[in-house]
Amino acid sequence: LPTSADLVAYQQGVAGHDGTLCDVDGELFIKPCTPTEVAFYESSLATHQDFAEFMPTFLGTLTLDEQQNGQTIEEAGAALIAKHTIPEVVVSTKSSKKIVTNQAVVLENAAHGFVKPNILDVKLGVRLWADDAHQEKKIRFDKVTEETTHKDLGFRIAGMRVWQGPKAVGKDIDADGYKIYDKNYGRFDLHKGNVHEAFKNFIFAESAGVDEELGKLVAQAFHADVCRIQEVLEGQESVMFSSSLLFVFEGDGVALRSAMEEASRSPATLQNEDANAYASSEEDEDEDTGPKIYAVKVIDFAHAEWTPGMGPDENSLVGVRSVANILKDLGSV
Ligand code: ADP
Ligand code: MN
Repeated sequence: LPTSADLVAYQQGVAGHDGTLCDVDGELFIKPCTPTEVAFYESSLATHQDFAEFMPTFLGTLTLDEQQNGQTIEEAGAALIAKHTIPEVVVSTKSSKKIVTNQAVVLENAAHGFVKPNILDVKLGVRLWADDAHQEKKIRFDKVTEETTHKDLGFRIAGMRVWQGPKAVGKDIDADGYKIYDKNYGRFDLHKGNVHEAFKNFIFAESAGVDEELGKLVAQAFHADVCRIQEVLEGQESVMFSSSLLFVFEGDGVALRSAMEEASRSPATLQNEDANAYASSEEDEDEDTGPKIYAVKVIDFAHAEWTPGMGPDENSLVGVRSVANILKDLGSV
């Protein structure tokens, strides 16, 4: 059985709160969250499968109960990993300062399986607060909208990390060679006139081997997924305040090219579950599905709900359409 040592702090987050965890293999992403977020995952899976396809795979929840002694969140998470099922685990929160709610979602780590995952969090919305927000928060968030690309484009760059190649050193480049764009980047450096440059910086990294040709293919793939997300959102009745589009792609140009070549040789392995039947039992799961190229997910449902009769989420759609337009430009020849 795995022990508590099998859960570690999640190191690849590009925005949001502290306190997220993952297992040592990096397959799981565990985030303390509100009951609203759990409910939205559960109801999406139950009734909105087309949208759930763009959510990270929901593996279950951890329920943190102060009355319970003996188990830490790490131990509960380890038990959960051991079970490989959709569980309900009760653990103690007594010693934890990071967790302010009594629940955590256990999700698929969208960055797992990449050699050098480049990650971008695009926060959606013109208005950023839900109806139940306090007056102080409404004022604070309206100021953010007013001062950023939220106002005209309905999104902002919340954070990103981009691999710069094996020899990269310099400003804002971490020990692993990723350039880190923190929350101040989208808050203060970007405006509607230059925000496309953020997507350029994300997708095209010559020093990492992601050249013009590869970058365009990535932009096209992202664009196709964002268009599909737009279509799904236009066809459903929901609201999501301050949710994000999470973009991930293979940031190692050599690995990216070979993953694309492999996919074009055997596209079925990307789409067809039955392809697993051809894999030898010696191979592990990652090899069964081939090397990863990219992923687009909708995340962060702390203020999301289904709203039958209220129409589509035009507030989030402003941002989705803006992002689609930028990606379309970057992907075109
Ligand atoms: P918060 O409420 O703290 O903003 P988010 O759900 O937005 O929480 O997550 C914060 C960060 O964690 C995101 O910016 C992203 O980098 C990372 N993240 C969230 N969900 C996943 C996931 N399923 N896989 C990988 N990374 C994730
Ligand atoms: Mn977030």
